Amino acid sequence: MKLSVNKAHYPVTVLGYGRRIGIWTQGCSIGCKGCVSQDTWVRDANRDIPVTDLLAWCREMANRGLDGLTISGGEPFEQADALAYFLAEFRSFAECLPRPVDVLCYSGLPYERIRREHATLLTQIDALVPEPYVHKLPGKPLRGSSNQPVVPLTPLGLERYGDPDVYGGKRFQVAVDGDQIWFVGIPERGDMARLEEYCEARGLVFAGGSWRG
Ligand code: SF4
Repeated sequence: MKLSVNKAHYPVTVLGYGRRIGIWTQGCSIGCKGCVSQDTWVRDANRDIPVTDLLAWCREMANRGLDGLTISGGEPFEQADALAYFLAEFRSFAECLPRPVDVLCYSGLPYERIRREHATLLTQIDALVPEPYVHKLPGKPLRGSSNQPVVPLTPLGLERYGDPDVYGGKRFQVAVDGDQIWFVGIPERGDMARLEEYCEARGLVFAGGSWRG
């Protein structure tokens, strides 16, 4: 079983509780206007990773201290079978870790549709952020646009995400990978253009950007 992955990172500290593994899936057919992750839209067989390899990497990262796993995309539910397999295996080893580990998952699909079509998969998730990104709406803590709820699905999800406002404040992580820079976090509308202007004024010109339509 393989999961198509755009990137994976540890530690992610700006998308959920504590120190987390972040996995961004590859492939999204929703096409929200203003999406900042357009590099994740096209399915690409070169990005398919055996779930067993991904789990081995997660185990390695968990040894450094783990509070949670954030799944984003791309659209994770477009790979529902591989995601279900990955999450079942991930949760079974995470249960043995010294600290509670939550799973926070993002989706651009409507919550009611996910409930209807992926009820079993939802049992592997502690908190879900569903609904498409709406460019004209302002963001909220943990969310790109204010129409997106944070839905706790388990007691741990409720404990950590019952009040998403505790994750307020603008926070970004920056990672460098070869000649690419990528950002972890949820920008407000116009933030990426402002960041480009700021960098250009200091001599750093971006050749491309996943936030450009
Ligand atoms: S915001 Fe998410 S759901 Fe919407 S197009 Fe971008 S990756 Fe897909």
